[in-house]
Amino acid sequence: MEGGWTNPLRLEILIEGDRIAAIAPELKAEGAEVIDLSGLLITPGLVDGHSHMWSAIARGLGDDSAETMDALAEVWTPEASALSVELAAALAVNSGITWVNNWADNVVSPEHADAEVGAMRDSGLGGRFNYGYPHAGSHDKPMDLDDLRDTVSTWEHGPVGLGVALRGPDSSTPEVLQEEISKARGYGLPVSFHMGGSQGAAELHNVQAMSEQGMLGADVQVVHVTSAPAEDLARLAEAGSPLIVAPTTEAAMDFGAPDIGAMREAGLNMGVGVGTTGPEGAADMFTVMRLVAEAADETMGEEAINGATVFDWATRAGALAVQAPDGVGTLVKGGPADLIAISTEGLDETGKLPPDIELTRKAGPDNVRFVMIGGEIHKADGELTKVDLDALTNEAAEMMNELQEKLGG
Ligand SMILES: [Zn+2]
Repeated sequence: MEGGWTNPLRLEILIEGDRIAAIAPELKAEGAEVIDLSGLLITPGLVDGHSHMWSAIARGLGDDSAETMDALAEVWTPEASALSVELAAALAVNSGITWVNNWADNVVSPEHADAEVGAMRDSGLGGRFNYGYPHAGSHDKPMDLDDLRDTVSTWEHGPVGLGVALRGPDSSTPEVLQEEISKARGYGLPVSFHMGGSQGAAELHNVQAMSEQGMLGADVQVVHVTSAPAEDLARLAEAGSPLIVAPTTEAAMDFGAPDIGAMREAGLNMGVGVGTTGPEGAADMFTVMRLVAEAADETMGEEAINGATVFDWATRAGALAVQAPDGVGTLVKGGPADLIAISTEGLDETGKLPPDIELTRKAGPDNVRFVMIGGEIHKADGELTKVDLDALTNEAAEMMNELQEKLGG
């Protein structure tokens, strides 16, 4: 779990504060509280490379959900953003996610941004807030660059970092994109955007344009690119831009399954993400991992990429791809005490599946029995310890009703 797969070993882990102080078969630690997780698989916490936390309270909007969300986004309140982030964080923790790349594509006002940041910090989840733009904004108007500047200058450093969420080349004019990227780069902030999801978007050949203008790089994260030709993938890889796939969202949006074979072939740095929490309201990285593995089967042949690779994209490699802080997605001495414990009981009737396959193709959020983030326990014995998920879900439904009434009135 320091990078690459190690078959399960019987180990003890000593946590001091928010860090891993030691890992060894047997440890002595006078006066330490002992947590017995024997029989469970302990892994690094999962890293969600792309998540729209602001809209998590929106559920069951039906067939015209995209249109409804466009309208709702305009009447969205900072309170709705905060509650959504709270709910998204609870769902994330429940499914073993300990670090999330929160992509805020409905920053209607500075208060909306503050509300999301506050809720992320309160949740205890690690991650990055990617300052975005109003969902209903026009393509030829830059995001609120003044408030971005203020946010940068007053940012409190801690477990939540800062980045920038852009509409990207498929959904904004070249002038706006240029201005936004150069501002973000001037502040030293990573940026990310959706690109090349649909066939129409891929035909804009924006990967080539951006590559020629020097606008790609390790600090420029690209999401989806499910419809891009191989040469676009090669250009992204050459520039060092990582690619984040979000297969549950890609299926819901009819973007098609990611061509994992071509992405591997191009040598891209890969991450995976939940995207939107969807109508069922799940931030489920296990479904994401299974869909990625199955998409690889489709293009590369049955089980051509092993579970260890997919799991790496959901932990260490995914964290590196999105430039998460050092040690995120690994279990290593001196690294962050972000870890989860998974029960594999009943996942494999044959008794022959290796654990990496069990984790990526069979397990689900219910198998996550324990979650620790920064040394704090967030889930124990299969139950969230800091959040009442049912109460939060009810509160979310009430707030959605209020927003829909606002829309109706
Ligand atoms: Zn997205």
